[in-house]
Amino acid sequence: MGFRTRQIHAGVTPDPQTGSILTPIYQTTTYVQPSVDEYLSKGFTYSRSGNPTVKALELKLADLEGGVDCACFGTGMSAIQAVMLAFLSAGSHAVISDVAYGGTYRLCTKILTKFGVEFTFADGSNPDSVAAAVRKNTKLILTETPANPTMKCTDIAAVSKIAKKAGVVHAVDNTFLTPYYQLPFELGADISIHSTTKYMDGHNATVGGAVISKSAEHAKAVRFIQNSTGSIMSPQVAWLTLQGCKTLSIRMDAQSASAMAIATFLEAQPKVSQVMYPGLKSFPQHELSTRQASGYGAMLWFEVKGGLKAGKKLMDNIKVWSLAENLGSVESLITHPVTMTHADVEPAERARVGIIDGLVRASVGLEDTDDLINALGAALDQV
Ligand code: PLP
Repeated sequence: MGFRTRQIHAGVTPDPQTGSILTPIYQTTTYVQPSVDEYLSKGFTYSRSGNPTVKALELKLADLEGGVDCACFGTGMSAIQAVMLAFLSAGSHAVISDVAYGGTYRLCTKILTKFGVEFTFADGSNPDSVAAAVRKNTKLILTETPANPTMKCTDIAAVSKIAKKAGVVHAVDNTFLTPYYQLPFELGADISIHSTTKYMDGHNATVGGAVISKSAEHAKAVRFIQNSTGSIMSPQVAWLTLQGCKTLSIRMDAQSASAMAIATFLEAQPKVSQVMYPGLKSFPQHELSTRQASGYGAMLWFEVKGGLKAGKKLMDNIKVWSLAENLGSVESLITHPVTMTHADVEPAERARVGIIDGLVRASVGLEDTDDLINALGAALDQV
């Protein structure tokens, strides 16, 4: 079946008792067992270990990514944490994209290092630098592509080859493009991670995460962490995300088309010094983006001439767009990563990886493209 059919129907069967077309919100702690010998015969025991509403979403996401299993989590960060806990331990080492969501960097540098795990932040745009970072004790390579917020892309196939040769798990944070545009398993990766908070939900209604595994062995390791750490998604969040997913491809296509128009507009503005959007021919990795994904997504960034001061003026005055964290929603959002999403990344590290002070991140929503462009034009006029 095609993606549009699967995003609606995969994982969902009408409720056997009532015929309810939507999977109900199974708001329950426990599940009554028919007898001691038939324990687990209906598949559920306790809602930390599994819940039917969450299960429906897990089945859907596993189907969309082409994996054997998906485990859903309370947030995208708990999904990333689960991957780290599943594959890393004291004395082991992980290679992480040098540009990644600030929370991923914080989890590595401020928490997991306390438990004796070592990290190298390597330039994901250069497979040689990823290969050079791999050591004898490397157990995991985690790449985020396109990366938040610089949009730097990693060649998933090239890094997967490096991982395979070294016997290391390659996990890809696929939040920005979703399986509609990018399928990491087809390019050789082992694990795909999502902050479902973003495009899967799409409506700024929830926070959630997902880890999809290509192999049963990896899936088992992730499930063990989901249950042991008590980090499963709640049934209400799963239900809302199940509904959001049904329009994923339609939203992504419309938002990406707007993003292309907005990036083109911004590139022509004399007050804008640079624009980074994978769909632009001027984007340094335009060829890679075209090769490994079927769409460019709806995230971009730009810098206003005059740097931070001018960028702040634009962000403080813009209409239609909301100044807020999050991305991937139907509402267009504008964010200043240096003071917001990536504030915990040290200034020197930010400078090293290209998160410049004047970077304005834009998550293009589903409003009329002209309204979004006019609002940007009016805000630029005030700079
Ligand atoms: N991965 C990426 C690429 C993100 O942008 C984010 C959040 O912005 C996360 C993971 C973390 O997700 P959450 O905020 O749902 O914990």
